[in-house]
Amino acid sequence: MALAEFDLIKRYFAVHAPQHPFNWLGIGDDCALLNPPADYQLAVTTDTMVENVHFFADADPYFLGHKLLAVNLSDLAAMGAEPFAVTLALTLPIVDETWLQAFAAGFIGLAQQHHVDLIGGDTTSGPLTLTVQAMGVVPRGGALLRSNAKVGDLIFVTGQLGNAGLGLKVTHGYVCDDPQLPLRCFNQPEPRVAEGILLREVAHACIDISDGLGSDLRHILEQSKVGACLDWERLPMSAQVRQYIEISGDWPMPLTAGDDYELCFTLPAESVPQLPEGCHYVGVIEAEPGLRIVRAGKIETFEAKGFEHFS
Ligand code: ADP
Ligand code: MG
Repeated sequence: MALAEFDLIKRYFAVHAPQHPFNWLGIGDDCALLNPPADYQLAVTTDTMVENVHFFADADPYFLGHKLLAVNLSDLAAMGAEPFAVTLALTLPIVDETWLQAFAAGFIGLAQQHHVDLIGGDTTSGPLTLTVQAMGVVPRGGALLRSNAKVGDLIFVTGQLGNAGLGLKVTHGYVCDDPQLPLRCFNQPEPRVAEGILLREVAHACIDISDGLGSDLRHILEQSKVGACLDWERLPMSAQVRQYIEISGDWPMPLTAGDDYELCFTLPAESVPQLPEGCHYVGVIEAEPGLRIVRAGKIETFEAKGFEHFS
């Protein structure tokens, strides 16, 4: 007999009492009860993954669990927030215990790594849909906003661009010499939580790169009412991504492919020495609206957009 809803929750998700001091009551009652400290603001975000839109039916459930949480923690990181609690709404077509066990392992594993408690959720039957709400705290008034970039700021990114995009191509059959890194970046993105917290003191504006730098930087530009110029030669790329571009000629890929979950942020030049390890200069904020790119000594307007639903 299939596992009943309550047994399923108990077995896979209510695995321990809340550990974080801000979580007073977790799974088991009608609501969870949270005690965030008074001098902080609560940062709240939610992201959904839908079968055949965000992943295919044969996707590895361990990676799905990891990635579902990672994309939510990445949004908190982009605000400079410190995560402490998440809820999970699961809509499942059937109760497949092998699938659930692997999904929960991926999800809970990443949650424990970040000292985040799963404090509640909902479980229903229907087409496979996975939704997380994540909560974090930032010191009052200290969050990193998209709207705070200043003319003259330098633009930086954490990590490398295009690895996840290449990983997606590898899962679709593209043959790459050394596919481990692109596949890991695509399947198990590491949300830049520690970096986001450090950047709170240093950066002006910040966003996480879910749809490609070209598209996500545009959100900073629009909300800050500024423009930008990127330097293609300075984009941080792995050897695998460089080789892909050499073979295919698809130079915009690291700017247009999604799923990197790195942070893109702006800061004044004098703050650069305070940056954490692994941040790379990619361009500059300018007064003239729009996004431009310098490539092979020529400036061109950069038009390409990231993925959009309903378009
Ligand atoms: P209610 O009917 O009052 O909404 P539920 O029966 O949906 O309560 O859930 C019982 C408890 O289990 C609640 O504390 C709820 O937050 C938790 N819960 C339900 N589904 C999940 C899930 N997928 N992950 C974590 N907690 C869950
Ligand atoms: Mg319910």
